[in-house]
Amino acid sequence: MALKNKGLLIVFSGPSGSGKDTVLGELKKRDINMKQSVSVTTRDIRDGEVDGVDYYFTDVQTFEKNIEEGYFLEYVKYGSNYYGTPKKRIEELIDGGSNVVLKIEVEGAGNVRRVFPDAVSVFIIPPSMEELEKRLKGRGTETEESFRNRLDIAKEELKRACEYDYIVVNDSVSACADRVCAVIEAETFKYTRMKALVDNMK
Ligand code: 5GP
Repeated sequence: MALKNKGLLIVFSGPSGSGKDTVLGELKKRDINMKQSVSVTTRDIRDGEVDGVDYYFTDVQTFEKNIEEGYFLEYVKYGSNYYGTPKKRIEELIDGGSNVVLKIEVEGAGNVRRVFPDAVSVFIIPPSMEELEKRLKGRGTETEESFRNRLDIAKEELKRACEYDYIVVNDSVSACADRVCAVIEAETFKYTRMKALVDNMK
């Protein structure tokens, strides 16, 4: 029987306004080996979100019980809410050869790298600071204060780009998605990941 390689664990981050959600949406439309992990959160469900699709929505008590039970690969308290990545499903998918993408913030990304050093981390950036400001303003939902606040957070997050393996510029959604696909493709064929297959042929 042909030997099957394990899937990649892909950590996907980017500051607010980088367009990472749109890029992820574009990748999901493509016929590639990539499944997105569904995180658990204690934050309120937003309009248009679906429980079990966007997140598993839960309460603080259940979340904290899950932490004690070792349910999460990583978790953070972001603002006043918990966010966590369920471990078991991800391990099953990766062992079965699926690439799994985690859309998480920078703190969680660091935690994933500690427990999963083999993870591939991708940081999406806008083409310029001017473009980032334009995108944040373009949302139209921002007061001047919340715009400034988001901009400050984005600047702080950008400082941590150096912790990632790949920096991908989102100047156009489709070009950015192409670049992420190129990263996934190249990582898949690294010798360290192909070794078992090669050894099996000796
Ligand atoms: P939002 O509340 O806007 O959906 O997400 C807020 C931030 O939490 C985003 O940066 C998102 O990527 C991040 N996030 C979502 N799920 C997880 C998770 O399971 N772990 C970590 N560390 N961050 C997450």
